[in-house]
Amino acid sequence: MPYTPDTNRYTKMQYRRCGNSGVKLSAISLGLWHNFGHVDQLENGSNILKLAFDNGITHFDLANNYGPPPGSAEENFGKLLKRDFSAYRDEMIISTKAGYTMWDGPYGDWGSKKYLVSSLDQSLKRMNLDYVDIFYHHRPDPETPLEETMMALDLIVRQGKALYAGISNYYPEEAALAIAILKELGTPCLIHQPKYSMYERWVEHGLLDLLETEGVGCIPFSPLAQGMLTDKYLKDIPADSRAAKAHGFLQAAQITPEKQQQLLKLNAIAESRGQKLAQMALSWILRDERITSVLVGASKPEQLADSLKCLENIHFNTEELNNIENILSN
Ligand code: NDP
Repeated sequence: MPYTPDTNRYTKMQYRRCGNSGVKLSAISLGLWHNFGHVDQLENGSNILKLAFDNGITHFDLANNYGPPPGSAEENFGKLLKRDFSAYRDEMIISTKAGYTMWDGPYGDWGSKKYLVSSLDQSLKRMNLDYVDIFYHHRPDPETPLEETMMALDLIVRQGKALYAGISNYYPEEAALAIAILKELGTPCLIHQPKYSMYERWVEHGLLDLLETEGVGCIPFSPLAQGMLTDKYLKDIPADSRAAKAHGFLQAAQITPEKQQQLLKLNAIAESRGQKLAQMALSWILRDERITSVLVGASKPEQLADSLKCLENIHFNTEELNNIENILSN
């Protein structure tokens, strides 16, 4: 049966302007880092994408190396896009990135113009797209001059292979320089993609202020700390969880008894708010208006459906915030 999206999808989602740009993103975006590789079930991925789109998610985030194997998430996304979403390309913001190891030799990693331009060409072929909406430099490169990396982003945008440029994993000082260079080149930085969750707080020390001042959007990744900030690890490590999978980036050793105690306490606060822990962890990020969108992952459609409900309550009172801080600091 051909896929027909829910006609009410845009009434179910909130949309936030991305910095000072003309583009808005869905408050929740879907990332394809895990669960869309050749090791995964394509139809499960298809069901996750359809559920996302039916609920007003417009932004889908990829990278050259997502899989495993690297490249396979883009390939699978390309297949599903062609089969189910070809009529809806203009309703989607699709991003990809380059910056981590992708192929052998000196041109398949980091931040040279050679790597970024070739990598995006490969990504476009894998996804069967003429352009992506956002192209990111995935991580800072200590050896390549920042000017070269930013000039590569500017070139890619001028060539029409990406509509907007973004940076990811840049600390505040590096981000400030990158944003300034891009501004001078005439291709403003649209967005920054940092890691941010209750467990990962560095963005609060300068980055969010910088992005607000510069009019750059912010889309935190791994807002659930790869699934830790959910109710799944409260007792044990479920066999189908990321921490149990050989190719998952979350290590079982990270789920210590101390962490489980902390999660149980956070879970109690979530319950008192009428939320699940995953929903509270996402609301907690979205309560800050400087955040454009939270970039979640999901291994099953039900998880995404669950996470989407965070939008029903993104307000916290001072007592709740203080209680959360107390738990996190112990
Ligand atoms: P999350 O922190 O949202 O973790 C997602 C995982 O948590 C799921 O795969 C699932 O894991 C579990 N989960 C999700 N929702 C629920 C729920 N409601 N209840 C229970 N468990 C749930 O994000 P990711 O770490 O997946 O990162 C999200 C995206 O961010 C990536 O896909 C990618 O696009 C981007 N990213 C960017 C990086 C960068 O360097 N720029 C680096 C990493 C990610 P399980 O398998 O256990 O079911």
